[in-house]
Amino acid sequence: MSLIDHHVHTCFSTDASKEATIEAYIEQANKRNIRQLMFTDHVDLHTPKGIDESLPDYQALSRKLNTLATTTDIELRLGVELGYHEKALPIYKQLIHQVQFDFIIMSVHSVLDQDLYHGELFSSLSQTEAYEAYFKTVLQMVKTTTDYDVIGHLDYIIRYGHFKDKDYDFNHFKPIIDEILSIIIKAGKGIELNTSGLRYGLKHMHPKLELLKRYRILGGKVITLGSDAHHPRELQADFEKALKLLKQAGFSHVTTFKNRQPSFHLL
Ligand SMILES: [Zn+2]
Ligand SMILES: [Zn+2]
Repeated sequence: MSLIDHHVHTCFSTDASKEATIEAYIEQANKRNIRQLMFTDHVDLHTPKGIDESLPDYQALSRKLNTLATTTDIELRLGVELGYHEKALPIYKQLIHQVQFDFIIMSVHSVLDQDLYHGELFSSLSQTEAYEAYFKTVLQMVKTTTDYDVIGHLDYIIRYGHFKDKDYDFNHFKPIIDEILSIIIKAGKGIELNTSGLRYGLKHMHPKLELLKRYRILGGKVITLGSDAHHPRELQADFEKALKLLKQAGFSHVTTFKNRQPSFHLL
């Protein structure tokens, strides 16, 4: 089965390594006999201060991909990771109209107008309150937009608090998680299995097994694999473990996207 990493950042994302050029990913893919690449750089508008709010230059990026496509037999696909903010949704709609993306991830990177990366949220809220606020934001997101294909790194809030035990009690959050997953499924959308949790020293990927199982039981079928690579060496990181986890959660297929259309591949 040909696997495609559906969550990859290049240096068109401001938080990615300078070494993360498209050429470097192609080189990496060639070395490892990877036949397709999907690039999903960040577009995060209306985030708290300190984060770059400019759009990647898609004209330049598309030109570059088209030029490179003539020099390699690796298939190059263009995706995007949109950072959710209600005020940004009209701009995202416009962007999706202008740029022919193959695939769209929508992710929550800030909660209550505080960036999770900088840990501010945790200074005013308890661990449970912060996690609740995160899931509420995800719920608000899936209630207000369908301009996406999958929701990014569901449950990744646990990456950022300075708690001894960062894990969460699935049963405590089950009602809101059920609501989120049901809306995603009803809209014909999906989630991703994002392997980056392991690289952040967490015990699991995002989302964790209980949530994955719940998604499948509720009827969820669309699931992509993503490493959230910010450097070429992270391409398809821990994909073998991810495939095992998908099987463990009872999935029979993994999903890939092209021109926003899903294909299902037997595991
Ligand atoms: Zn993200
Ligand atoms: Zn990402």
